[in-house]
Amino acid sequence: MRDGRRPAASTLGGQSASVKDVTTKYDVVVIGTGAAASTVAMRCRKAGKRVAVVDSRPFGGTCALRGCDPKKVLVGAAEVLDWTRRMEKNGIRADQVQIDWSRLMQFKRSFTESVPKNSEESFVRSGVATFHGRARFVGRTSLQVDDDVLEAANVVVAAGSKPADLKIRGAELAVTSEQFLELEHLPERVLFIGGGYISFEFAHIAARAGARVTILHRGQRPLERFDPDLVDRLVSRTRDLGVDVRLGLEVSGITRSSSGVKIQVHGDTGDHDFDSDLVVHGAGRVPEIDDMRLNEAGIEWDPDRGVKVNEYLQSVSNPGVYAAGDAAASAGPPLTPVATYEGKIAAENLLKGNQRKPNYDGIPTVVFTVPQLASVGLQEGAARDRGFAFRVNQEDTSSWYSSRRVAERYSGFKTLIDQQTGRILGAHLLGPDAAETINIFALAIRNGLTSTDLKDVIYTYPTVTSDVPYMI
Ligand SMILES: Cc1cc2nc3c(=O)[nH]c(=O)nc-3n(C[C@H](O)[C@H](O)[C@H](O)COP(=O)(O)OP(=O)(O)OC[C@H]3O[C@@H](n4cnc5c(N)ncnc54)[C@H](O)[C@@H]3O)c2cc1C
Repeated sequence: MRDGRRPAASTLGGQSASVKDVTTKYDVVVIGTGAAASTVAMRCRKAGKRVAVVDSRPFGGTCALRGCDPKKVLVGAAEVLDWTRRMEKNGIRADQVQIDWSRLMQFKRSFTESVPKNSEESFVRSGVATFHGRARFVGRTSLQVDDDVLEAANVVVAAGSKPADLKIRGAELAVTSEQFLELEHLPERVLFIGGGYISFEFAHIAARAGARVTILHRGQRPLERFDPDLVDRLVSRTRDLGVDVRLGLEVSGITRSSSGVKIQVHGDTGDHDFDSDLVVHGAGRVPEIDDMRLNEAGIEWDPDRGVKVNEYLQSVSNPGVYAAGDAAASAGPPLTPVATYEGKIAAENLLKGNQRKPNYDGIPTVVFTVPQLASVGLQEGAARDRGFAFRVNQEDTSSWYSSRRVAERYSGFKTLIDQQTGRILGAHLLGPDAAETINIFALAIRNGLTSTDLKDVIYTYPTVTSDVPYMI
C-alpha cells in the first residue's frame, strides 16, 4: 500500500526522488515492526542506509500491542487484588475489593492505542520508509508487498511468531492470547489449553477477576523451562487460588455446546469432557514465516524454530538475508529483550560484515503470576549434564521478612554455585519481586561474578534484593 506512508524522499539517504516518484530499491528491507525489526531498522538508518519496514498489522509488534505490555497492566490489577486479600487478617479490609474488567480493559487500551501511530511516526521521522501489507519473497532479496516490489541489498526477517496450529478438531473455537487481551467481558468459566507461561499468567489474572479457571496440560509438569521444585510450589499456589490445574491430559477436540464449548481430552484414566464458556489457546507459538515464500529466496527454515541462521544471525543458505527475534531459529529464547538484542547484532553484522555472535548466557525469564516465578542460567539437570561440580542452595522463604511483610505464603529459591570458581551458574526464584531480583543474578552470570562478589554489594534495605547474599 503506497499512499501517504512513505517518507519524503529527502529523508531517504539524501535521495532526490519526490514522494510520487518513489524508489523501490533499498539497502535494507525489514519484515516486521516489533522489537527486533525496530532495532535493526533504526540502526541501519542511523548508519545512513536506505531502509524500509513492512508490517501487515498495526505497527509496534507483539510485545507492545498484544503481549508483554498490555498483559502486565492486567497482572498489576491481579497483584493489587491478591495483596489486598492476603493482608485481610493483617489490617486491610478486603471485602469490597474486586476487578472491574471493562474499566481495566480501558486502562489497558490507554497503553496500546497510541502505539501504532507513534511507532510509524518514529520510523518516518527517522527517514525509514513504511509499508503496510504482507511481505512475500519474489527473489533472493526482493519482496512483494501488495502492488509494490521492494528490492534490497539485504532483507531482515523479524516477523515474530503466532499461535501454533492446535491440530485438533474444533481448533477454531479456541481464542488466542491476543483475543483474550481484548475481551470486553470476562466469561464465568475460562479454560486454557497448555501449561506454558501465557496460560499460567492469564489464568492468574482471570481467577482474580472472578472467573472459574481450568488449565489443561499434556505433560506431568507445566512450565517446563523453570525449576521443577519451584514449579510444583507455583502449581500448589495456583490450585489454592481455585484454578483447576490438570496434568497429563491431551486435548483431542473442541465442540460447541448449548452453554459454551466442550473440550474433549484424553489421559491415563481415559476420555473426559470439560465444559467452559471460553477456551484459550496457550499451547505454544511458532515463527510467523510459513506464507513468506522463503523457498523462493532460497532461505532454509524450520516451521517450529524459524529461519535457519548461522552464528551471526545470517541465513545459512542466503547471505543477503538475516533474521532476528522470534522468527529466527537462533539459540535465544522467544522474549522481547532477546529480540532487541538479536536486532542489534543482526544490524551490526549486516553493516560491518559478520563479526558479532550473540551470547545467550544468563538471559532471565519470568512467569508473571502472583507470586512471580523467575529463572536465569542453568537448572540442576543441565548443570550436571555439563559436568559442573556445584553446590545447591535452596530454601522456603515464606518465613523471611520480605515474604511475611506482604503475607505471601509461597516463596522460595534455588541457586547453583560453581564449587571451584564460586561463580553463579543458575538462580531460580519464586516470590514477591522475583522478576526484579532475578536481574541481579543475570548480571552476575553474564559477567562471571562470584557469590563473594554478590555478597560484597551493599543493597538497599529492606528489599527483596537485600536477601540475595542469603541465597548464595
Ligand atoms: C501474550 C504474550 C505475552 C508475552 N509476554 C512476554 C513478557 O512478559 N516478556 C517477554 O520478554 N516476552 C513476552 N512475550 C514474547 C514477546 O512478545 C516476543 O518475544 C517479542 O514480541 C518478539 O518480537 P519480534 O520483534 O521478534 O516480533 P514481533 O513483535 O512479533 O513483530 C513481528 C511483526 O512482524 C509482522 N509480520 C509477520 N509476518 C509478516 C509478513 N509476512 N509481512 C509483513 N509483516 C509481517 C507481524 O505483524 C508483527 O507485527 C509475550 C508474547 C505473548 C504472545
